[in-house]
Amino acid sequence: MMLAEENQVTGEKKKMAIRTLSGGVLTEKEDVTRNPSKISSQDLNMYYGPVRALHGITMEVKERAVTALIGPSGCGKSTFLRTLNRMNDTIPGARIEGTVTIDGVNIYGSAVNVAALRRMVGMVFQKQNPFPKSIFDNVAYGPRLHGITDKAVLEHVVEESLKKSAIWDEVKDRLDTSAMQLSGGQQQRLCIARVLAVGPEIILMDEPASALDPLSTAKIEELIHQLRKNYTIVIVTHNMQQAARVSDYTAYFYMGSLVEFGETKTIFTNPVKKETEDYITGRFG
Ligand code: ADP
Repeated sequence: MMLAEENQVTGEKKKMAIRTLSGGVLTEKEDVTRNPSKISSQDLNMYYGPVRALHGITMEVKERAVTALIGPSGCGKSTFLRTLNRMNDTIPGARIEGTVTIDGVNIYGSAVNVAALRRMVGMVFQKQNPFPKSIFDNVAYGPRLHGITDKAVLEHVVEESLKKSAIWDEVKDRLDTSAMQLSGGQQQRLCIARVLAVGPEIILMDEPASALDPLSTAKIEELIHQLRKNYTIVIVTHNMQQAARVSDYTAYFYMGSLVEFGETKTIFTNPVKKETEDYITGRFG
């Protein structure tokens, strides 16, 4: 066998091995490579006091696609996620250098209204955090805060948001009962409905399923798949199979740096960097 042929065979074998080791869960999704960029981070540094948590992150997030942030604990995934809607603003001593633009607008610019930004860029947290209120009032909370008082309008927004977050059928007959009575998975979908109710364009998710059982996790993943048709989603996950299943693009972070970024299928079958390969095949981390 010629050396070139041998290399080709080894290459295919390696790809297979990576696919297997990553859980064999890469799924075919509609092509989003031609979608425009929605978020752009340019040479972004982030500091917690003297500690530099992000090192020169330059990355484009495509519109109406799912981008997964992966990497070992403490590598800056959540920090980067929070820079995208200025959630870090509230942390004393936190500061950034560089820019983050959404639709070409620098979100750290002085003209930006942070409340409006957070409406456009919603966030779902690891631990579902419904308010101790009724299901209806949880979803109506944001719209009410933004001045909507008309009952029919609120009812419409609540119903639509609950439908979009795939929980309407489970709760439509008990909208007045407490959200605290729902299961963990239902509460997380309710929290997604609460985000959707204020009309975001981007949804940030910080390990949204890591506290849930497998069935509830599957429902959240299916929901992410649905939502990507209309929203730009950035998700932090420590679960590699989940990243492979739900995302179109994957960013691998390590120690505050972006090691590799690309289409998920490439990152999981043919990563450029050895470090990425070691991480996704479980040899490291
Ligand atoms: P990941 O999401 O990948 O686990 P984080 O973004 O949470 O990583 O953390 C990145 C680094 O920033 C870590 O060293 C962490 O200790 C530090 N860090 C995160 N949040 C804070 C904070 N509020 N104050 C100080 N340091 C923080």
